[in-house]
Amino acid sequence: MHPITRKLFLFNTVLLAGCGSTKPVEAKSPTGTVSLSYIARLYTMKMSMSGKNCVLKNKYNTIEIETNSRRAWINGIMVWLHHPCRLSGKEWAIREADFKKGIDCIMRSYAYLEKRTPKVVVLDPGHGGSDPGATGPRTNIREKQVVLDIALRVKAQLEAKRIQVRLTRSTDIIPSLQQRTDYAASVGADLFVSIHADGAGDSSAHGVETFIMTVEGADSSNHYGQPGDTFAMKNNSFDAANAVLGFNLQGNLVKATKRNDRGLRRARYSVLKNAPCPAALVECGFLTNPEEEALLNTANYREACARGIASGVLAYFTLARRSRK
Ligand SMILES: [Zn+2]
Repeated sequence: MHPITRKLFLFNTVLLAGCGSTKPVEAKSPTGTVSLSYIARLYTMKMSMSGKNCVLKNKYNTIEIETNSRRAWINGIMVWLHHPCRLSGKEWAIREADFKKGIDCIMRSYAYLEKRTPKVVVLDPGHGGSDPGATGPRTNIREKQVVLDIALRVKAQLEAKRIQVRLTRSTDIIPSLQQRTDYAASVGADLFVSIHADGAGDSSAHGVETFIMTVEGADSSNHYGQPGDTFAMKNNSFDAANAVLGFNLQGNLVKATKRNDRGLRRARYSVLKNAPCPAALVECGFLTNPEEEALLNTANYREACARGIASGVLAYFTLARRSRK
């Protein structure tokens, strides 16, 4: 065994043995933070600075964390931290929750995911019926139409891989938010993916993003710094799996659509906090941005969005099958 591989292997074995072979690594420190140098050692990475960013890198993976900021990138895909990376003494550090319920789940999914083959995926095309969602101002295209079309394309792609897919709506109706997650529970969903397109007052806003549940005690990315609901929700029991699912959806969505990466974000959206399984909400571009409105009007772009979402789900399935838990 190569010495570095051996070192990492021993390190993981020791850490895993220390808290039972089925539990994720403990990364406790007295201040509730984890230093970036600790993370570099854990993953056998070299650490260096590049401008404002701290870069951790080995042959296989790169983690980049912007100092005094909530932005990080894992293998080039943006991941928003709940709290900024700050100096703790002389060392740059992130909060323990951002490491244990975010970065480490993504980096070492095998230590967190239940080893099983998920079967049923519930896709949730947003809005519908009397709720059009966002509207493209130039073509009058409605979010409810776009996201249903994308969901049907994802369904076809996943069914071609023999995965069972259910939709919370397959026509122009409007299930309530509660009905959507209740439906997922009633069909025994293993994964729940809500599909949306964005709208913003500023027409320059563009790109794709993915939301997962905020962890207990933290602010959401969409209202950071405001006092709000920081308590735990039912779906927080899937924090680790949410991170793995969300990261793989976002990475594949960016790759398939080639749009601006707005990152993996956190929000306590109703369909996320009440989902009975690992869940994520994807935003496939801005109907209020002229370029993206035109793209969302094309079958090619919608098919690309569907390919990204389906690939993200398939990547999650592969990781769950390979898990050691
Ligand atoms: Zn929407």
